Amino acid sequence: MTLNSIRTEVIIIGAGAAGLMTAISAASRGRKVTVIESHHKLCEKIRISGGGRCNFTNLGACAERYISQNPHFIKSALRTYTQEDFINLVERHNIKYYEKKLGQLFCKESSQEIINMLLKECSDLGVSIIYPCKVQSINQLEENKFQIKAEHLKDKSRLELYSESLVMASGGLSIPQIGASDFGYRIAKQFNLNIIEPKAALVPLMSLDSERNFYKSLSGVSIDSICTYKRTKKQETSFRENILFTHRGLSGPAILQISSYIDDEDSINIDLLPEKNNLVDELKSFTKNPKFSKKFLINILKENYSEIAEKFYDSFAETYKCKLKNRLATYSHGFLDTLANKLKSWAFTNQESEGFNKAEVTRGGIDTNELSSKTMAVKNNPNLYFVGELVDVTGWLGGYNFQWAWSSGYVAGQNC
Ligand SMILES: Cc1cc2nc3c(=O)[nH]c(=O)nc-3n(C[C@H](O)[C@H](O)[C@H](O)COP(=O)(O)OP(=O)(O)OC[C@H]3O[C@@H](n4cnc5c(N)ncnc54)[C@H](O)[C@@H]3O)c2cc1C
Repeated sequence: MTLNSIRTEVIIIGAGAAGLMTAISAASRGRKVTVIESHHKLCEKIRISGGGRCNFTNLGACAERYISQNPHFIKSALRTYTQEDFINLVERHNIKYYEKKLGQLFCKESSQEIINMLLKECSDLGVSIIYPCKVQSINQLEENKFQIKAEHLKDKSRLELYSESLVMASGGLSIPQIGASDFGYRIAKQFNLNIIEPKAALVPLMSLDSERNFYKSLSGVSIDSICTYKRTKKQETSFRENILFTHRGLSGPAILQISSYIDDEDSINIDLLPEKNNLVDELKSFTKNPKFSKKFLINILKENYSEIAEKFYDSFAETYKCKLKNRLATYSHGFLDTLANKLKSWAFTNQESEGFNKAEVTRGGIDTNELSSKTMAVKNNPNLYFVGELVDVTGWLGGYNFQWAWSSGYVAGQNC
């Protein structure tokens, strides 16, 4: 079996968004860079992102749209390499893009264009990418000397690499089918770094078993809503976008967003009629109006509050044995109060999330207290770096996670 010994200046583990941006940034300073990737394809997450069109950044990227135990940590990298910087790179490569909604920028053609752009930059700058390659061990021989033993999975040759700096960019745990692994966390533990428990985020939620049939009966129905999670009386987080009923519970952008803030068994409230601020009064006033009072309540709901799909009212009435099929005049104001409150503040309990197989990202990760926000290096080990999703920084849905990968990668590359 052949043994190849490689001496380089920077080794990066993981050829995803953050790893390749680190490579480009470091190589553009003249550093000799080698990237090691375990999967047989490069940048798989970029390829499948944004429904194949890669939502590569967000015009509104700012620290407030990220979740971390230290929300200030993010600011420096986002300031150093901004969304405009990445947009300039995209434009230099003549990639056509558009804003879909809420500042979210997508490729017009395909996410492959972003991959091609990153690989072209790497190749022009002489970055060497070795894949598929399994890292067997990482050792720090001296402060500025790392030794990586690995096996090339194609020809089974053994590699021994030496570098001054090591950058961990091996990503989080979501979608193991395309290469996600816990490798970065294991290396962090080897170097005695604290880890904030990794959890699935931007992920569909599962209803309680007892309520599953209701959600299943509405599978495919989408409603514009406001989802709110009240952590404490004073602290709450809300997102207004669509929710989507699934066979197991709820998904859709508003649910994915709120999922990053909640845990198993937490409850959220959903305003299914966000435009109707006086629903109770409106329903009560209908009882006095002969045009409405003789109509069946369910028909009034379907006709006047059609923002909620008709199917919802039918399933709601049936599953919860809620009598909606009588004439409006027969209902007490108390009943209408309860009904309006239910529609304005639907309670959904998350039995558990659908987990890493369905999650767009992993929240938690390397504790930011261990890292310098200016360089992404470990504070007490300045030649070891962690970037991208591995770090305890999680963006909202909408291009924020890639922007974090670009910003943190760029900063590490300028320093490693
Ligand atoms: C379905 C889906 C859609 C998404 N869409 C968007 C979107 O449109 N916009 C957005 O902002 N974010 C999106 N995201 C999130 C975004 O893809 C990630 O936040 C981003 O890719 C993180 O970059 P990273 O480089 O840190 O990790 P990754 O892109 O996951 O890269 C890590 C790399 O390390 C490799 N690796 C793992 N273990 C090892 C090892 N032991 N040795 C060597 N290499 C290893 C992996 O194979 C991978 O190539 C999406 C995620 C998913 C799953």
